[in-house]
Amino acid sequence: MAQSADSINVFTISLGCPKNRVDTERLLGALGPAMVPVDEVADAHLALINTCGFIQPAVEESVNAILDAVRDAGEAETSTGRRPVVAVAGCLVSRYGQDLRAELPEVDLWLSTDELERWPDMAAKALAAVTRADAPRRLSTGPAYAYLKISEGCSHNCRFCTIPSIRGPHRSRPVAPLLSEARELAAQAPEIIVVGQDSTSYGSDLGDGNTIKDLVTGLAALPGLAWLRLMYLYPAGLTDDLLAFLRQIGAPLLPYFDIPLQHAHPDVLGSMGRPFARNPRKVIDRVRAHFPEAALRTTFIVGYPGETDEHFEHLMRFVEETRFHHLGVFPYWAEDGTPAAAMDNQVDEAIKLARRDALMALQADISREIMETHVGETLPVLIEAPSPEWPGLYVGRTWFQAPEVDGVTYVSAPPETELALGTIVDVEIEKADTYDLSGLV
Ligand code: SF4
Repeated sequence: MAQSADSINVFTISLGCPKNRVDTERLLGALGPAMVPVDEVADAHLALINTCGFIQPAVEESVNAILDAVRDAGEAETSTGRRPVVAVAGCLVSRYGQDLRAELPEVDLWLSTDELERWPDMAAKALAAVTRADAPRRLSTGPAYAYLKISEGCSHNCRFCTIPSIRGPHRSRPVAPLLSEARELAAQAPEIIVVGQDSTSYGSDLGDGNTIKDLVTGLAALPGLAWLRLMYLYPAGLTDDLLAFLRQIGAPLLPYFDIPLQHAHPDVLGSMGRPFARNPRKVIDRVRAHFPEAALRTTFIVGYPGETDEHFEHLMRFVEETRFHHLGVFPYWAEDGTPAAAMDNQVDEAIKLARRDALMALQADISREIMETHVGETLPVLIEAPSPEWPGLYVGRTWFQAPEVDGVTYVSAPPETELALGTIVDVEIEKADTYDLSGLV
């Protein structure tokens, strides 16, 4: 059934005695005139099970009703991306509250019979989250690009990182709701940028057989999408099989590879708990074997506990040889509660900063040389904004420049010509700076 933005669709099961039914009616009444009864959990914003715990058969019946609702809510999420709130009230909660909470973490709200007056408030808060999720996104990133978050959390265990403990294990959003969100985004902006803690692991937790390949296939077919950029490609996930697949996908997928390596020396990588092959050269060679034209971005941490001068020199040589288009360098920061923070061979702050500066200086030279190779070329540039200072000048990005982290391309338009924001124009590149390009339409 269709959902109106103003209605609260409620699926209800009321078990046990008439007193319980009255409680159920009160709970429903407290939701106000927006409440619309529905017959299936899949159609609901809220699934309310009012239980009975009087005798053992009633307990079993109640538990089965809860399990059914939890299962149906999970299936609804898989097919629509919106999970109904599951609320359980009544005598069973009063009788077995704590045990039930531990056994059934999928239930969102528990309400014992002496907590009924808290219901309107609890329900309103839980429903605010789920009904908001129905609302279309309003882009905050302007008319050129939109981020698509494909997963939450991370199941790797890098010893310097707090993400797994804060955000929990890797959980992928199902393909269908991602594609419908992306379709809306592509109608508003020509570029979609896929983000997640590890995009290559996408789908491994879904249990429906879908992987990053299925998602990319669907995204690449979206009408109106000009550029598709994948960020956060965990090195071990960039297998020959995936790379061959990405190659044959072609446009709108950009040959842009953001591969967070964090270090290049095998000892440091081992100590960081990064379980991919200890030689990151291999993944770079693999990418370039499939995409000789690839633009590579990575990030490194310098001054990780135990990083010696020799380890750092190894990293410098690796950067010199690899010639990344873009590089982020971060001095190691000891995050509370991480294993790396407890290591006793911490590196002096001044050394960390000096290493960061040395690596960035090396990359500045490499970046300028790479940018200079583009002078004289005609490149597609996505126009993002007019320059605030110079009439006729625009700020945009070409395919190897991701927003917020890479350089930009300044575009001069002929006099009296206005370039529409969010369009892609051919730009003749005239000048290269360390990180930016400039050219003419
Ligand atoms: S650094 Fe990245 S891959 Fe490693 S645990 Fe943190 S989020 Fe996961």
